[in-house]
Amino acid sequence: MPSEFSGKHVTVAGLGVSGVPAAKVLHGLGARVTVVNDGDDERARTQAAELEPLGVTVRLGDGDTLPEGTELIVTAPGWKPTKPLFTAAGQAGVPVWGDVELAWRLRGLNGRKPAPWLAVTGTNGKTTTVQMLASILKAAGLRTAAVGNIGVSLLDAVTGEQEYDVLAVELSSYQLHWAPSLRAHSAAVLNLAPDHLDWHGSMEAYAADKGRIYEGNHVACVYNVADKATEDLVRAADVEEGCRAIGFTLGTPGPSQLGVVEGLLVDRAFVEDRQKNAQELAEVSDVNPPAPHNIANALAAAGLARAFGVSAAAVRDGLRAFTPDAHRIAHVADVDGVAYVDDSKATNTHATEASLAAYESIVWIAGGLAKGATFDELVAGAAKRLRGAVLIGADRALIREALARHAPEVPVVDLDRTDTGAMLQAVQEARRLARPGDTVLLAPACASMDMFTNYNQRGDAFAQAVRELGA
Ligand code: ADP
Repeated sequence: MPSEFSGKHVTVAGLGVSGVPAAKVLHGLGARVTVVNDGDDERARTQAAELEPLGVTVRLGDGDTLPEGTELIVTAPGWKPTKPLFTAAGQAGVPVWGDVELAWRLRGLNGRKPAPWLAVTGTNGKTTTVQMLASILKAAGLRTAAVGNIGVSLLDAVTGEQEYDVLAVELSSYQLHWAPSLRAHSAAVLNLAPDHLDWHGSMEAYAADKGRIYEGNHVACVYNVADKATEDLVRAADVEEGCRAIGFTLGTPGPSQLGVVEGLLVDRAFVEDRQKNAQELAEVSDVNPPAPHNIANALAAAGLARAFGVSAAAVRDGLRAFTPDAHRIAHVADVDGVAYVDDSKATNTHATEASLAAYESIVWIAGGLAKGATFDELVAGAAKRLRGAVLIGADRALIREALARHAPEVPVVDLDRTDTGAMLQAVQEARRLARPGDTVLLAPACASMDMFTNYNQRGDAFAQAVRELGA
């Protein structure tokens, strides 16, 4: 198939999750593809061996030299904008696209009508919200998928065999940084807390990249009423004529908002005469789990679905059909009247704050790699809910010190071991501290890589330890 890529020199920066499929697709479109990669390890060599027979050039161990003749760079989203490769590209006037930009540009290339995108970003809750949204769209009878970090890749969704009516797209701040021409049907920013600042350079730069998701929206920019920074991003965005700002709130909604009234999720945005009317969408208990932050996610998903014209009944049915992914406030078991909850995915303080707000009396298991975070605000806010704390991992002293400052009465067990088996001991210590009615909550506020391969393995170790308690 002739395309604008025929004969074009394209450099794909970074092998891995997005690089290999990008190289294949571009090669298939007739581009002359070179892949550059920093690492030269076993995995990289296996991937290179997959690409080279196709005629793709792969340079391992040098991700910083711009290959001669490059006309376009397609980068892995995680590559920092300050890398010398991009400086060289800037000097040579070579455009840089991320995986999302590539997918966006390839929409419709297979001759099909491109599916509109309903896009979601935020510091926390993206995956959950996108999955809720896809569930709602499915309940409305639409052909859709949750794409991005989970499930189908964006590139597959736009170039593959399957046809879609609409896509529920999760976008990270990195991906947005590299996606200059993306124009979603509607988009939501769930919340904004400092994260990945080392990558973006500053909070302002991080917010600006997140805000790119609203650029050129057609129907609705959905923002969080409780997080003014998200509303500011809507104001700053240049959107299509007639595109509306739609707020979501855990309180009573004003006109053009979705919110909660007497245990019901209600829509006061996509109804006739919104000054006077509201439409019931679902019951709070239809949201799983019905923790405050998750109700906010459900409202954001509902806002995007309603912007796409989905009925109230489909919102309810879709929310009822949704089950959260593993390790996101997953109830593992009750042992001796104590609930054990796995929120291993709470890898930063913002997520952990939401998790701690969902329970009355908590034995908190926390710690790991702090990634530069501070814990004072988190601990001060949760102090009165804490029955006790069990600390694990490399940076646990930071949390211990915050507890000493803001919650000196709370008993703390500090586990001085970082081996994988430490989780069993942590759970045993938590059991000792807990009283019937309490929740033992794994919400580490830290990354897991000091003790585990990833947050999944950490959560599995917790669940296994809980099962051993019950046995
Ligand atoms: P993401 O895809 O943005 O990482 P997830 O849906 O996977 O988000 O959830 C990540 C973590 O954030 C989980 O620990 C979850 O409990 C927490 N979380 C989910 N939604 C929110 C929210 N709206 N506000 C704060 N924390 C949240």
